[in-house]
Amino acid sequence: MMKKVMVKMKKSNELIIANKELAFQNEEKEKRVAELTIANKELIFQNEEKEKQAAELTIAKEHAEESDRLKSAFLANMSHEIRTPMNGILGFAEMLKEPKLTWEEQQEYISIIEKSGARMLNIINDIVDISKIESGLMKVNMKESNVNEQIEYIYTFFKPEVEGKGMQLFFKNSLPLKEAILKTDREKVSAIFINLVKNAIKYSDKGSIGLGYEKKGKYLEFFVKDTGIGIPKDRQEAIFDRFVQANIGDKRAFQGAGLGLSISKAYVEMLGGKIWVESEEGKGSTFYFTIPYNDEAADKNVIQNVVLPEGATSQIKDLKILIAEDDEGSEKLLTVVVKMFGKEVLKARTGVEAIEACRNNPDIDLVFMDIQMPEMNGYEATRQIRQFNQDVVIIAQTAYALTGDRELAIEAGCNDYIPKPIKKDNLMVLIQKYFKKQETV
Ligand code: ADP
Repeated sequence: MMKKVMVKMKKSNELIIANKELAFQNEEKEKRVAELTIANKELIFQNEEKEKQAAELTIAKEHAEESDRLKSAFLANMSHEIRTPMNGILGFAEMLKEPKLTWEEQQEYISIIEKSGARMLNIINDIVDISKIESGLMKVNMKESNVNEQIEYIYTFFKPEVEGKGMQLFFKNSLPLKEAILKTDREKVSAIFINLVKNAIKYSDKGSIGLGYEKKGKYLEFFVKDTGIGIPKDRQEAIFDRFVQANIGDKRAFQGAGLGLSISKAYVEMLGGKIWVESEEGKGSTFYFTIPYNDEAADKNVIQNVVLPEGATSQIKDLKILIAEDDEGSEKLLTVVVKMFGKEVLKARTGVEAIEACRNNPDIDLVFMDIQMPEMNGYEATRQIRQFNQDVVIIAQTAYALTGDRELAIEAGCNDYIPKPIKKDNLMVLIQKYFKKQETV
């Protein structure tokens, strides 16, 4: 009897142990399941990450391909944009050699050469500007300037061209002259306006073009409005990108490299504003841009425009002029233009020669100083000339046409700056500015 009880107790002990063992195994299994679930989740997460990375790589690849396409489109476009005017210049220069040309034919060929040259210069300026913007070298030069005057100037400048197309040009300045003063980069605001007005003329054949601004809170909101071909909705953002034109399929219909608006956009953003367009195909477009309005600047003196009076050149005394220039073509051009003011024109081909010429001729009135010259550049030559001659008027001239050149030239000791190609009228205004005064003293 006792033995039976003992056996039973042993069995039930064994069962309890077996049970515990099972419970333990169960717990272990649950643990494993939990671990596996975590591992599974980890795998799913890793998978998702991989898919995301793959999607990102696809986007990056598409961007790279797009940028490649843009580069090829750019090269094709640039090549066309540069070759076309060069064709006009070289072709018609060649034809001018023909001895039996009539006077009318000569004038026609010369006018084609002039137009092609101007077009070439535009594209080069755009390329230089966009490169400066992209390399972060474009500087902003904030000064007070009168917006009303700026708009009136642009109006007067473009009026003949717009009316020549049988269209009207109007402008709207909504602040009184005294309050229309902005502290901003005047040259950049002009560049934006000029670009928008040029586009308005280029992309319109009838109706009118308007420009102006309104005060909106802390900003002036400028507009250029046309009644031209308009821009499709789905292209209204892309046109502000580099090398992009609205109508891709019809690229050759209008000249242009698709750079103007991207330069304008970069400028507006540098000045703290925004640019956008509202447009309807077939009806026209209005481009808007904003510039912060700082009315503390108001009520200051309004700067007057320089006006070249009639017969101004004859009032300027005979000048002794030094042309410091290493490029033969540029030197010849300048010599012809300054002939009417100069009693004596001296020449130097390097910065060092320019200093020597000034040292040997203390009576020189005016120096045209090219900036890019062999041996010593124009900035350094000017600095050295200033050590012994404070009075001579030095006008820097450079072919780089970059915003900021003026400041560098003035810092070096130049009185003024004129970009190449030198325009006769601009040069006359400058000479008038420095030498008319001396006459009246
Ligand atoms: P470009 O005129 O040299 O091609 P832009 O950057 O100035 O380059 O302009 C980009 C594109 O935007 C133009 O090619 C044109 O398709 C479109 N566009 C710009 N201004 C106007 C406008 N006023 N009306 C219609 N389309 C315009």
